[in-house]
Amino acid sequence: MTVWNGESALATRSAALEQLDRFCPRAGLEYHKCRNYDYGRNDNSKVSGLSPYIRIGLLNEAECARAALSKHSERQCRKFLEELFWRVYWKGYLENHRAIWNQYRRDLNLVLRDDSLARGIATAESGRTGIDCFDSWVKELVETGYLHNHARMWFASIWIFTLKLPWQAGAHFFLSHLLDGDVASNTLSWRWVAGLHTKGKTYLARRSNIAKYTENRFAPTQLASTAVALTEDPIQTLSPRIQAAPIEIVRPLKYGFIFTDDDASIPDFGENRPQTALALFPENRYASAGASQRVVDFRRSSMDATVGRLENLGISTVLVCQNHANAIVDWISDHQLETILCPQPYVGYWNDEWAEIEASIASSGSKLRLFRRWWEADLFPHAQKGFFSFKKRLPAIWERIQSPLTAGLSY
Ligand SMILES: Cc1cc2nc3c(=O)[nH]c(=O)nc-3n(C[C@H](O)[C@H](O)[C@H](O)COP(=O)(O)OP(=O)(O)OC[C@H]3O[C@@H](n4cnc5c(N)ncnc54)[C@H](O)[C@@H]3O)c2cc1C
Repeated sequence: MTVWNGESALATRSAALEQLDRFCPRAGLEYHKCRNYDYGRNDNSKVSGLSPYIRIGLLNEAECARAALSKHSERQCRKFLEELFWRVYWKGYLENHRAIWNQYRRDLNLVLRDDSLARGIATAESGRTGIDCFDSWVKELVETGYLHNHARMWFASIWIFTLKLPWQAGAHFFLSHLLDGDVASNTLSWRWVAGLHTKGKTYLARRSNIAKYTENRFAPTQLASTAVALTEDPIQTLSPRIQAAPIEIVRPLKYGFIFTDDDASIPDFGENRPQTALALFPENRYASAGASQRVVDFRRSSMDATVGRLENLGISTVLVCQNHANAIVDWISDHQLETILCPQPYVGYWNDEWAEIEASIASSGSKLRLFRRWWEADLFPHAQKGFFSFKKRLPAIWERIQSPLTAGLSY
């Protein structure tokens, strides 16, 4: 059983490591053979349930891969490793095509204001469509914050092709309720189902497939029998943002550390620890974007947990939930900080505020040094087109993950 069954789950690093430890013996051929089966909220034991922790950085892809490789050969756990790196692919793809997120938000705004769509969306979101599997997944999503991958695919397909609702509203519903809600994986997966990612190739939810992989819990008869790919106007191309490099080995002697809920992990500071740290959490932004209380509480408690761990290391840390740019100015001035280190936030919720934050840091006379995890720095430039060309790069990454030189390196 995964921890995401609606009972409150601890958003701590130790809970994340326990979950990884519990899952690892099953990350080999068992995962490969059984991962498509969705046994429902009381028994999703064939998948890892790690995504909410990975989303916030309490676990990272390299350490999950390393843990799996310590129990299985690469051949045995390749499927699990590939799934882990699908997430990296989606993140890199959105960094390279960031206009997709802007366009999604513009379109979502229009969709949510369109009165002619309101009734259909409300019926779907309240689980009153009469399609038993779909209505049950709505309940599961809202009550637990988690859905199995296959259920997400069926759900998105039914939303788009059977209920004929705009994909943007469905993606928004997912982001509001998923504990692992991730701008890149979510937006791009919905687009993939709709036939907008791999142009013209859609995903059709079929009765026989649902019956097989839910072991006959569901066998819906009302599903669309075809899935014609959606089309859209070409999305404006924006030059990709400059991507940060992995953390520098030679660090400044006196510096402050900033982190966001995009990555609430603690880098290995070695002997040269930061003087102080600042945790930035966009609580108001989530609330105005419609995130459920469960999602906000989970992310906030993850941030609290990291603040506690930093304090235990003797690094005084403050959590700021609004007016981030102003708080940064005061913090820099209080501690006379010349340099700030920060993991680069991804394309997403931080977009709107980040320019202001950078300007505040610059106006305070401090130098901001952004950094990325080493495998992201390596792989993001290759997430330009489809997953299959990206995938060719992965064995070299897995080799590095197992090498004694990078063992344990999170950045
Ligand atoms: C419409 C749709 C929306 C989605 N929205 C999100 C989202 O907001 N956030 C999110 O993390 N994932 C999303 N996914 C991907 C996937 O469904 C989840 O990552 C997975 O179900 C998480 O459960 P798990 O940790 O038990 O997965 P496992 O099967 O145990 O996989 C292990 C890890 O690999 C990664 N992973 C697995 N499958 C995928 C995938 N298809 N794409 C990207 N990463 C993957 C995740 O980090 C996951 O924790 C979405 C998929 C679809 C079809």
